Amino acid sequence: MFPLIKAENLIKRYGEGTAITTALDGVSFEINQGDFVAIMGPSGSGKSTLLHIIGFLDKETEGNYYFDGKKFDDYSPKEIANIRGKKMGFIFQMFNLLPRTSVIDNVKLPLVYSGIKEDAWDERINNAIKIVGMSHRLEFEPSQLSGGEKQRTAIARALVNNPQVIFADEPTGNLDSKSGQQVMETLDYLNREKGHTIVLITHESNTAKYAERIIHLKDGKIEKDEKVSQRFNGEYDLK
Ligand code: ADP
Ligand code: MG
Repeated sequence: MFPLIKAENLIKRYGEGTAITTALDGVSFEINQGDFVAIMGPSGSGKSTLLHIIGFLDKETEGNYYFDGKKFDDYSPKEIANIRGKKMGFIFQMFNLLPRTSVIDNVKLPLVYSGIKEDAWDERINNAIKIVGMSHRLEFEPSQLSGGEKQRTAIARALVNNPQVIFADEPTGNLDSKSGQQVMETLDYLNREKGHTIVLITHESNTAKYAERIIHLKDGKIEKDEKVSQRFNGEYDLK
């Protein structure tokens, strides 16, 4: 079996000449299907840059990135679009929901581009919304939701195509601690019960403890790659 994600000596530079920034400076690791991995590090350490590369949103300057056993360069643009739409789900710190658009329509959006038959949409939308506990807010628009509810809607949107892997970039960064806990418990549930691989970016250690493993980044390098000794035990407080 090959890993779902394999980074091989990734280097990413921005700019040129004297203005050059080395955001990633030789990063290698593997993530298997079903893993829950946190990437931790201070601001500017290269976390988002790394997530953009492994999520096919950007390309490394040097090194190799393999997804599902195949090198990024060997995928056609069509295959890349297909993987991004169907095998990967994305969650961001700022939620990135469409304004003046209901919960149900926000969650529906990825299906519109998926090629999945319309007959199957309602069930998928309802399942995804139910998993995140938002079934009582179907017709609400983002401006009528709390931060935690917005992020749970964004999780439902990331889920609706049943992706192999969910990438979450600081998903609790704009939430109070109780809402943050609820979002992390939802991600924990998706990993334990539904088998989604999760790659979580955070700079908070109490958020990282939901993962099985933490990759610590510093100045674009892996400083430490450790197993979490006291992972969250899966006893949900809020469901
Ligand atoms: P983190 O997510 O850990 O805060 P980033 O990956 O966003 O870190 O950034 C890593 C480094 O790369 C920082 O020094 C940042 O200023 C720089 N950087 C990120 N994106 C760009 C860009 N588009 N152009 C130039 N420099 C960038
Ligand atoms: Mg970042």
